[in-house]
Amino acid sequence: MNLLCIGSIAYDSIITPFGKVHKTLGGSASYFALASKFFAKASLVGIVGNDFKRTDKKLLEKYADISGIKTAKGKTFHWAGKYHSDLNTRDTLKTELGVFANFKPKLNKEHKKANYIFLGNIHPKLQIEVLNQVKSTSQQTRFVGLDTMNFWITSAKPDLLKVIKQVKLLCINDSEASELAGTGDIIKNANKIYKLMSQKLNPLLIIKQGENGLSLFTHNQKNKKLHGFCLPAYKVKKALDPTGAGDTFAGALMGYLAKQNNVSLTNIKKACEVASIIASFCVEGFGVAKLDKLKMPDVNKRLNEYKNTINY
Ligand code: AMP
Repeated sequence: MNLLCIGSIAYDSIITPFGKVHKTLGGSASYFALASKFFAKASLVGIVGNDFKRTDKKLLEKYADISGIKTAKGKTFHWAGKYHSDLNTRDTLKTELGVFANFKPKLNKEHKKANYIFLGNIHPKLQIEVLNQVKSTSQQTRFVGLDTMNFWITSAKPDLLKVIKQVKLLCINDSEASELAGTGDIIKNANKIYKLMSQKLNPLLIIKQGENGLSLFTHNQKNKKLHGFCLPAYKVKKALDPTGAGDTFAGALMGYLAKQNNVSLTNIKKACEVASIIASFCVEGFGVAKLDKLKMPDVNKRLNEYKNTINY
């Protein structure tokens, strides 16, 4: 067990211009697991209510170690969102924490040994709790990634800033970056957010820009200036539902790094390419449906096509 993810396991109600689904399996940890499956079996830490369906449990179990998912009396986390016509923006209609409201993560011995840890989108207090527990074991170097969203930037910023200081990688989308840094300019945002991270860790910042791709920022070791690397997105024929694309990206990226056990910048760039491709499949279906069916040959085919179109 080398890849650990704490995050939400949810029922999502989603409305896009192309359809809607009610209470389908979602959550940051679910998308993460269905994307990392191509490279590594993730161990998930989270909680579900006693309304969580056996079929959904079985689905997660196919791809991940779910011994760290607790079932409690009450309702599974429920999120509802409605996308605008361009699919780039959405309104959150409901965030019902349910059993997550009283969740206290408890990692077992095996979880604590993981070298690749992803603090998926969930209350920053829970992310800190996980970090504190893994720190209690004297362990070789760990690669810790973090994701968050507007909801936590608004409601739990002081805790979030504490987590940001402790991670090697922060993945955030551009509207969240604007909210966190307070400007509408990606470069200014990157500079401000980078300064919030621990410089001792030589951190990495990924700002996801949806259909416009992503930018990866690191410090240039020679001139100590922020160095950016941009990757375009694969243009899908028809995007139906962008929910979870960011978590899918993170799952594939972390899974790839864990499998290779190589966190050089060159390998991280390769991981970003394949993770972008896997995320491009996610948006072609509602919820996790497309990821469940997706096979590695389909990923490789699209990856090769993509690599022929990018040049850097
Ligand atoms: P994304 O589209 O990458 O922002 O991820 C959407 C997923 O995040 C959905 O499956 C939701 O269940 C989950 N989600 C939405 N709001 C929250 C929240 N406040 N905390 C944790 N997970 C959330």
